[in-house]
Amino acid sequence: MSRINLKSAATLREPTELVAHGLASAADLPDLEKVAARYAVAVTPDIAALIDPGDPDDPIARQFIPSAEELVAQPGENADPIGDHAHAPVAGIVHRYPDRVLFKLVHVCAVYCRFCFRREMIGPGKATALSSDAYNGALDYIRAHSEIWEVILTGGDPLMLSPRRLGEIMADLAAIDHVKIIRIHTRVPVADPARISAEMVAALKVEGAATWVALHANHARELTRKARAACAAMIDAGIPMVSQSVLLRGVNDNVAALEALMRAFVECRIKPYYLHHGDLAPGTAHLRTTLEHGQQLMRDLRGRVSGLCQPDYVLDIPGGYGKAPVGPSYLSQANSSPGEGELDPETRYRIVDYCGDVHRYPPKP
Ligand code: SF4
Repeated sequence: MSRINLKSAATLREPTELVAHGLASAADLPDLEKVAARYAVAVTPDIAALIDPGDPDDPIARQFIPSAEELVAQPGENADPIGDHAHAPVAGIVHRYPDRVLFKLVHVCAVYCRFCFRREMIGPGKATALSSDAYNGALDYIRAHSEIWEVILTGGDPLMLSPRRLGEIMADLAAIDHVKIIRIHTRVPVADPARISAEMVAALKVEGAATWVALHANHARELTRKARAACAAMIDAGIPMVSQSVLLRGVNDNVAALEALMRAFVECRIKPYYLHHGDLAPGTAHLRTTLEHGQQLMRDLRGRVSGLCQPDYVLDIPGGYGKAPVGPSYLSQANSSPGEGELDPETRYRIVDYCGDVHRYPPKP
């Protein structure tokens, strides 16, 4: 196995570079060039170093190395799978739920995930950072809507901004009285942990609002020693962290991988928050699982790890209708399951324990 030498490496952005580093096959190059012409490619040295080029099923490679399968769009897939455009009152803002907005500051990321739900909107070939006018218009919108309690900085990846610029943005937001929470969605601590410098951590702390950071990672191997140190620097500075992961076929769609990932988060003091069902982004069907499989994995996970390690399994409803928890449910009305036969008529509910055994609860009052 020949892994990338971090000291001399730069981010890989061209299929020819992926081939030269043994991360893709030369035979696939024509297809990969077609994929790269449509969807951005970037593999940082830290991520490249995690990939085992000798493993055709490497779970890190599956997330970042393009594949010819991305050229095949399935019915139902959509360039705006979670309906951002339906809730965009001004440039840079998505206002889907009453008390919070997404603030999309940048359209670039440290790495480009092959399953990205915003893959049609991000990358060097797409729009870049918000113009100054658009930024001010977005701030005006937030100021004018006193119901906005939480601003979620997303993108792209907001930690691609310089600490100086990020600090200015944090101060602008915290100066708005009704904004109490600023949440940052990022993959930088795993993709390029060196960016989490002392200056960056200082920029994230702001008077007048609480900062939360949501880390996107999908496999325990992403939580390297350096990634853990980057997260610890933020948490030690008083910034709480939660996780976001995507359920991905061939990456984490087995209970052992999910268990290792959730345990790794909790060991890093990061509370597992969301496990997203894969969105219907174009050319990503090969990475999606079924909802039934996701529910079974959640059942299996509950049998193996504590509540601290349990994320919510959620689906973003296509069309912009927001997230919905998609189970599984452990509680049902008694007599609602086929084949159960006669039950005590006084029993109201059936509830399933972590071993899968069914119990009755409670008797009717
Ligand atoms: S880091 Fe997030 S926004 Fe960027 S490519 Fe990955 S999923 Fe998309």
